[in-house]
Amino acid sequence: MSASNRPVRVRFAPSPTGYLHVGGARTAIYNYFFAKAMKGTFYLRIEDTDRKRYNEEALHDLLRDLRWLGLQWDEGPDCEGKVGPYFQSERLDIYAREIQKLLESGDAYYCFCSEERLQEVRAAQEKSGAVVTGYDRHCRDIPIEEARERIAHGEKAVIRFKVPETGITGFDDLIRGHIEYQNELLDDLVLIKRDQYPTYHFASVVDDHLMETSHVLRGDEWISSTPKHILLYKAFGWEPPVFCHLPVILAAGGGKLSKRKGAASVGDFRDLGYLPETLINFLALLGWNPGDDREVMSIQEMIDAFSLERINPKAVAFDEKKLQWMNGQHIHRCDDKFLADYLVKGLEAIDIKTSSFSEDYILAVVKQLKSRAHFLTDLPSMASYFFTVPKTFDEKAKSKNWGAGSRAIAQSVRKALEPLTEFNATSIEQAFHALTESSGLRLGDLVGAVRLAVSGVSAGPGLWEIFELLGKQNVLSRIENAEPLMEP
Ligand code: GLU
Repeated sequence: MSASNRPVRVRFAPSPTGYLHVGGARTAIYNYFFAKAMKGTFYLRIEDTDRKRYNEEALHDLLRDLRWLGLQWDEGPDCEGKVGPYFQSERLDIYAREIQKLLESGDAYYCFCSEERLQEVRAAQEKSGAVVTGYDRHCRDIPIEEARERIAHGEKAVIRFKVPETGITGFDDLIRGHIEYQNELLDDLVLIKRDQYPTYHFASVVDDHLMETSHVLRGDEWISSTPKHILLYKAFGWEPPVFCHLPVILAAGGGKLSKRKGAASVGDFRDLGYLPETLINFLALLGWNPGDDREVMSIQEMIDAFSLERINPKAVAFDEKKLQWMNGQHIHRCDDKFLADYLVKGLEAIDIKTSSFSEDYILAVVKQLKSRAHFLTDLPSMASYFFTVPKTFDEKAKSKNWGAGSRAIAQSVRKALEPLTEFNATSIEQAFHALTESSGLRLGDLVGAVRLAVSGVSAGPGLWEIFELLGKQNVLSRIENAEPLMEP
């Protein structure tokens, strides 16, 4: 069966060596979307064969970040499926078994060259300005029996792939079209290292085959590895998967997106107060579109619209302004209860107690603020005055809204509100309008002075709604307490 007709099985195959970069996250997202859209399987394979770069903490963070994004794998760590184990370091017996096939068929050979020799070869090639550099195939013709004997006598060797010296290797990339490489430019790459661990190339091919991967969706940086992989599939007599290489994500000013240029990892964006659905939505649209002009979409909407054909091969730039805007849109769409829980935790973290407030009250605060927050982390600071009397007043707002005459304004507002028996947004609004008419004062001046007194800041939701929620006694006493501070 050709790979494109197989049941869809795709993988995200990170190496736990560092943080989860947003580029990696987008690869995981496309794999996840494709699996869900095609009712296939999304599996997670941990490529931990580079023992020098392996990092336990990176593995932990990686699993945490994928889970936070909600990209739950159908098979993988903590979720065993039929083709495990899902850690490459636990599959060494499989690689040892598979490499024997290539040694037997003459497609692989033992190489005894020392690191020093390889360095000398490289130095000589560089000096002579050779077009083709790399291993000089010194051990390529050592008969297998001789090699096995040398190993039995304790010599150490790597196993290399016998790459054809002539010919062309091509493949059809689903996004980039047909791509060809000349075999003579390819090195006899190492398949099994001295420490008996496989290299990325060998493990990747063996696993993609044995784990029944139908499509390989991965970053553009792996394109040049693909002809090597195709040749390995050929040597094994296996059908290769369909390849789709995803466009690079660039930093706003060009170049690679990296921590040096600001936030670049999933963890950074979580800590900045982004919602997982924002990050998924935003990353998905870097290089893909739903075929219409929709931008703010739920995960299900994106899955429903997803197809590999609409991935664009061009590199795309990361626009953080747009990400911020999109986060506001997603917060606005967010479940109130989720935001209320987040708010309570955030308030407790800045020592503001919420236990004496009802759930309805907290939800009402969320309703007032959710359309104004760009970040989840905005919520606790924006909401603080609903839970505690402001202790400080914004300096800039003070010079703008308080001054000569403010005390009298504050007193007249109190006098207008005091008699209200029903203290709700409508009655409060009416009281303010009546006051402007009777006093000749401007509504903006009244609102500006008392908003600052009650909330400590100059911007926020509608004042009538804030007052209703806080209640009459609170509002009146906050205004009164601020009065002595209003005039120099
Ligand atoms: N382990 C490779 C990485 O870290 C996977 C590349 C691939 O998907 O084949 O990106």
